[in-house]
Amino acid sequence: MEFPPIHTWIPCDKRPLVIAGPCSAETETQVMQTALALSRIPCVKVFRAGIWKPRTRPGTFEGVGSAGLSWMMRVKRETGLLTTVEVANPGHVEQALAHGIDILWIGARTVVNPFSMQELAESLSGVDVPVMVKNPVNPDLSLWIGAIERLQKNGIHRIAAVHRGFYQFEKTSFRNPPQWEIPIELKRRMPGLPLLCDPSHIGGNRSLILPVSQQAMDLEADGLMIETHPDPDKAWSDAAQQITPEQLADLLKNLVLRETTGSREFEKSLEELRHEIDLIDYEMIRLLAKRMEVAKDMGRYKYAHNITILQLQRWKELFADRIKKGSKAGLDTRFLASLLQLVHEQSIQIQTHVMNPPASSEDEK
Ligand code: PEP
Ligand code: MN
Repeated sequence: MEFPPIHTWIPCDKRPLVIAGPCSAETETQVMQTALALSRIPCVKVFRAGIWKPRTRPGTFEGVGSAGLSWMMRVKRETGLLTTVEVANPGHVEQALAHGIDILWIGARTVVNPFSMQELAESLSGVDVPVMVKNPVNPDLSLWIGAIERLQKNGIHRIAAVHRGFYQFEKTSFRNPPQWEIPIELKRRMPGLPLLCDPSHIGGNRSLILPVSQQAMDLEADGLMIETHPDPDKAWSDAAQQITPEQLADLLKNLVLRETTGSREFEKSLEELRHEIDLIDYEMIRLLAKRMEVAKDMGRYKYAHNITILQLQRWKELFADRIKKGSKAGLDTRFLASLLQLVHEQSIQIQTHVMNPPASSEDEK
């Protein structure tokens, strides 16, 4: 199924397309003040605000609820910006649509739950409204794709995915590390799907919004969703990651928008470099296959001499040696460690196979 390009449902003649507004609608004054300031920034086309807030613990601010919807109507009337709110159940959908909200968004905590997604999708059946789907909290691409498919099956076609980073147990400098390979794979699996980036929830911190936005632009994201508040430190939710509308305007000025295609000369040099990469990849594949052949021979040899497969001391030494050599050659240690781990796992698997060949069809008879 085709996805209409995002500019067909969010008119925008200037890159990047920006959706901005507070994490949460708090008061009518805060909402109006933010929206008026944002409406003066040419890239900002949509005003966002959380009305119903999914909070990890009860007892924290859970949103102003439906009272905020009439403030959103006022934003639309007085600024001309389109409006969007997060919906998590059919009741939210009904109220949002009754108040003329232009675009709905589904949050990361809802996308993880196929029951909720199914219920939401069914409540949208026959409704002609665009929907933005955030990635699920956990790094599971199938859940993200599944949520989009459920909407498509219920007749929603104007869809955008919003990349907001993924939960990771280990602490990193990001609140939700971006794991860029996942949105890139999503684009490969669903060509034409508009993809926006939410650097606020990825970074969790003001200082990371610019670098994450820049990376998103360099990876050809269609737009950005950025949390904006007139007095970020006093925000009732996500205070550390919000910026003022003025800071947003500055940030947008500092973004470098690179061309997606270049001059003929540029294309020619790029083609040569691509060719070089192709040859290196083919060589890597050939060497990997050769390495696995040697692993197979080793498995046979160990089998013949009744020796176990996993030689822990050898693996430790090999690992340390390759990491040392790799880091001397300028390779990232974490990258090389994962690669070695993968190669080792595959070698073990091949040796296991040699030692325990599956029963042949002859034996089965
Ligand atoms: C939000 O946008 O304020 C929000 C709750 O986002 P997410 O669902 O990505 O956590
Ligand atoms: Mn938020």
